[in-house]
Amino acid sequence: MEKRKQIYEGKAKKVYETDNKDFLIQEFKDDATAFDATKRGTIIGKGVVNNKVSAELFELLESKGVETHFVKLLSDRDMLIKRLDIFLIEVTIRNIVAGGMAKLLGLEEGIVLKEPVLEYHYKKDKLHDPLINEYHIKALGLATDDELRIARERSFEINNILKDFFKKRSIDLVDFKLEFGRHKDKVLLGDEISPDTCRLWEHGTKKKLDKDRFRRDLGGIEEAYQEILKRVVG
Ligand code: 5GP
Repeated sequence: MEKRKQIYEGKAKKVYETDNKDFLIQEFKDDATAFDATKRGTIIGKGVVNNKVSAELFELLESKGVETHFVKLLSDRDMLIKRLDIFLIEVTIRNIVAGGMAKLLGLEEGIVLKEPVLEYHYKKDKLHDPLINEYHIKALGLATDDELRIARERSFEINNILKDFFKKRSIDLVDFKLEFGRHKDKVLLGDEISPDTCRLWEHGTKKKLDKDRFRRDLGGIEEAYQEILKRVVG
């Protein structure tokens, strides 16, 4: 399937229509932004890594019965996906305290949580994606009861599958962000699963192998993304 009109350009991806209205192509860019695009840069090769890593993880999830928007890889930077009506919600799952949770609750990064924490954030860059709860989501009509239940249950399932997958590769899955959407009355996982959207720490050394290297100016960014590609795709 070929790219037709570009319908969206985000911080890290472009999305194109195809000749079939139910399918889109998402193209992964090397552009990196953080803190609601107040920090900008380029991570060479990031688009290729995120495309291939996402494809591998979507295939893994599909093989375990978790439905996603992924159809197939088209090239180094492009994947064919099902068109979703994306919910204006981000679902975050946390296994270890870091980032937003450390800041919000005044906790040290690295505390292993007794059980996974699920958070919802309202997708609104101008407000820095504020934390919301199920009442906000229902009251604002961002998703129905059923859709929310499915997204919540799938998110915990995805966590179990990914935690196990990364553990076998000597990586601790600290936290990650998911986006879900509607496709023909089904709730599917969308967006991407990559070092841009997950915190991935090398087991033992706790070396950060994700976008925090960019956010926090830690250097070795390209190498970290390549390391994840190597460990995920082999
Ligand atoms: P935090 O809430 O701690 O900033 O982020 C939690 C996890 O979700 C991290 O793995 C982070 O990469 C991911 N995440 C949350 N919001 C966003 C977002 O707007 N963009 C990206 N790329 N990742 C996000």
